[in-house]
Amino acid sequence: MSQMQEMEFKTEIRQLLEIITHSIYTSREIFLRELISNASDALDKLRFEQTRSTELRDPEAELAIRITTDPKNRRITITDTGIGMTLQEIITNIGTIAHSGTAAFLAKIKESGGNASNLIGRFGVGFYSVFMVADEVTVRSSSFQPEAKAVEWSSLGQETYQVRELEENLPRGTSISIHLKEDAEEFASKDRLAAIIKKHSNFISFPVYVDGEKINTVPALWREPKFSISKEQYAEFYKFLTLDSEEPLHTIHLSVDAPVQFAALLFVPPRTIDVFGIERDVHGLDLYVRRVLIQSKYKDLIPEYLGFVRGVVDTEDLPLNISRETLQENLVVRKMAQTITKQVLAELKKLAEDPARYATFWKAHGRRFKMGYADFANHEAFAELVRFHSSAAGPEELVSLAQYVERKKEDQKAIYYLSGPSRDAIEKNPHVEIFRRKGLEVLYLLEPIDEFVMEALRRYRELPLEAAENADLSKLETLPDATPASETPSPATGDLDALLAAMRRILGERVTDVRASKRLTTSPACLVSPDGSTSQMHRIMQILAKDTSVPKKILEINPQHPLMMRLHTIASQHPEDPFLSLAVESVFEAALLQDGYLTDPHAFVARTYSLLEEASRRYGEAQ
Ligand code: ADP
Repeated sequence: MSQMQEMEFKTEIRQLLEIITHSIYTSREIFLRELISNASDALDKLRFEQTRSTELRDPEAELAIRITTDPKNRRITITDTGIGMTLQEIITNIGTIAHSGTAAFLAKIKESGGNASNLIGRFGVGFYSVFMVADEVTVRSSSFQPEAKAVEWSSLGQETYQVRELEENLPRGTSISIHLKEDAEEFASKDRLAAIIKKHSNFISFPVYVDGEKINTVPALWREPKFSISKEQYAEFYKFLTLDSEEPLHTIHLSVDAPVQFAALLFVPPRTIDVFGIERDVHGLDLYVRRVLIQSKYKDLIPEYLGFVRGVVDTEDLPLNISRETLQENLVVRKMAQTITKQVLAELKKLAEDPARYATFWKAHGRRFKMGYADFANHEAFAELVRFHSSAAGPEELVSLAQYVERKKEDQKAIYYLSGPSRDAIEKNPHVEIFRRKGLEVLYLLEPIDEFVMEALRRYRELPLEAAENADLSKLETLPDATPASETPSPATGDLDALLAAMRRILGERVTDVRASKRLTTSPACLVSPDGSTSQMHRIMQILAKDTSVPKKILEINPQHPLMMRLHTIASQHPEDPFLSLAVESVFEAALLQDGYLTDPHAFVARTYSLLEEASRRYGEAQ
């Protein structure tokens, strides 16, 4: 017999074991889900090897998971005929490498003040979860590679484990023998185990036997005809697939014959399932070829912006022995992805018919979905599905472009939008004033990505999408005012030549021009971009290019505003008065601040104090 080695668990695993063995859990039963899921993975891998006709140990063995119970000795054993592990594999897989999400899990536990009970149910902690119920575990494994020696691994779930190679031959696969803790006796009962399997592992694609009796039902639900599947079965499958405890928001069951034959069962989760934030980059659908799992979470089957969709795809049109490398350029895969994308978008349109459910969808996945602006092939469908905040809707409400167009003014020739960090900020933006006066709806873009959406779409049903700050004023002016003129005075261009000249002189190269505004009603001034790009977009570009320069823009002033009228008087009578330049500089800086370009707050603050000082001095003199 080869020598027994005593080894230490890696630090991260020791921490995990510490939590697992010393906490009290309400959901200990999920240890079985984790072990069965590992066994099923091992069987999937074996089946994958089989299709490659590699030489295997025990080629005839049934692909199955068998559980035996021994209540008298408080022992259960879970055996699979999967790929098994070699000595080196068992050391790496079960002693060294922790589950990919372990670090995130540990961080979350610390955050929650050590209450792991509900976390553990939502998060697979893999093999080690067995130590919630076990005080001793022995794993015996025999690799599918015929020449590899069988191995034995055992641990009490503390700092160390023992491994050794065995001289005797074992049948292919892995067998995990668990000695239950005294208070975990219930898990030695056949009925209890059967109930847990039905609840958590019913859709495992291999038979699961407990003491010889097959417990789970049929796999491959996606291959069954739609009418034969109940809503409950779909929900059950969804929960099995995602470990979510809620029902799916929407279920999509496809059976496609052309251009490629495939079946797919897809789900839209009601919220981001990724509670731990570790799966942001992990999306994709499980790819089966004739019910054999080829690759789980396969990215090429669905574009990233629809990455919230979970599910399985099964085709007959790929060879079973396809390698993962050649999958990548495969035309069949690409065609399936195109069909899936179109179908998902069509289904989302159906979902949108129920605004409350669509709002749930948008809240959960809207941000990711907006990345779809780059999917030019599906622009039309995408444009129907995006939602925005709007001047014509409450803060919680979202509107579609279709809604906007339905209620737009008769002579309105564009769809208008404006970006800002918040609804409040946009409503105070001088650029919306003329829209308010004319009673025109403005879409509020609160996230940077919204601008990319608008830039990419450009038009919706023949109407151009225009940033309010760059709107063609000649088109707006001809529209009637929505509010009576007495309430919001309509600006009339007086003779402001003296002020405009003074301002041009004072601001010099920093502006391209100073002119009287037709868009302002209540603000004294604002900046307008001469080239038609929006300030938000410009700032994003600057951040990307690490550029901190202030762009040159046109300063527009409101000729009706009392401040401007008074400055005009000063400019006409005492153009050299230092107060004039102080005031003009402040107006300019305030406009920069509103556009997000103020780079030197200290100068701004200093100038504000000078202004206040000057104003109070004049007040004193006037007394
Ligand atoms: P995860 O399954 O998330 O990778 P686990 O801690 O559950 O994490 O398992 C670690 C690794 O141990 C698995 O990835 C797999 O390589 C191996 N393993 C676990 N159980 C088995 C099994 N029954 N047969 C073969 N390999 C297994």
